Amino acid sequence: MSAGIYIHVPFCATQCPYCDFYSVRYSAETVQRYADAVCRNLSALPMGLDADTVYFGGGTPSLLPVDLIARMLDTLRQRCQLSEDAEITLEANPLTATADRLAAWRSAGINRLSLGIQSFDAEILGILGRKHTPQQGLNAVLRAADAGFANLSIDLMLGLKQQSEALWAHELETAAALPVSHISAYMLKIEAQTPYAAQPPALLDDEAEADRYMQMHETLTAAGFHHYEISNFARAGAESRHNCKYWRLEPYYGIGPAAHSCYGGVRYAVSRDLEAFCAAPAQIQTV
Ligand code: SF4
Repeated sequence: MSAGIYIHVPFCATQCPYCDFYSVRYSAETVQRYADAVCRNLSALPMGLDADTVYFGGGTPSLLPVDLIARMLDTLRQRCQLSEDAEITLEANPLTATADRLAAWRSAGINRLSLGIQSFDAEILGILGRKHTPQQGLNAVLRAADAGFANLSIDLMLGLKQQSEALWAHELETAAALPVSHISAYMLKIEAQTPYAAQPPALLDDEAEADRYMQMHETLTAAGFHHYEISNFARAGAESRHNCKYWRLEPYYGIGPAAHSCYGGVRYAVSRDLEAFCAAPAQIQTV
């Protein structure tokens, strides 16, 4: 069975108050040492490993200089048998998705883009601490489609008190009308050690959130999206092949600080420590 390769990119421009994914502030010096460490670890994968998905997740992978993304993919191809039709996903912040970068990502081999839209409403974006406006989010989706990303996903978030039935209908209808093939809609959860844990926003109660969830199911399935996982909807054939590996317990190798792996029936994790990852000859995984 072919494996998936996950590369955790632990850099963000700012910290969103709800997020507990491991990331540090982006720095040009650190990113070079990080890329060296990623390539060192890619070169330590089993020689000739069959792989058919690659996923750059974060953090904000779209902050990476494109030449480093290309270098990582070249290193992977030298070590592994990456299939011709491999799904290669990059998570991108809408503000980073300029026309030039979109074209460069495609040239580097990225063929699936996941845009962190979260909402098309200015108040919701503000509460979530996102820096883009609704229009900038829309423009990023349209630019990505223009650049040729047919396999295009957006994230939405649900759970804030302000997300009335009418507002959520607007979010869903806006999303469904865009040239996207995939929508991930995550329920907001207050995670420990985040700014929201200290100062939580007003949330929907369970009944209201369940109603919005069913509203989402009905709206998106009526618009032609298949509800193939709890939080994920896709047009036919656009299901995330990489994420399906997680849900089906298929093998995947995670590289980078805080990355998780699962192969040989065992799950592994790398510590949430960028400096330790950069300094280690090969990343230290714990079961
Ligand atoms: S939500 Fe995304 S951009 Fe915001 S802190 Fe988390 S990883 Fe970074």
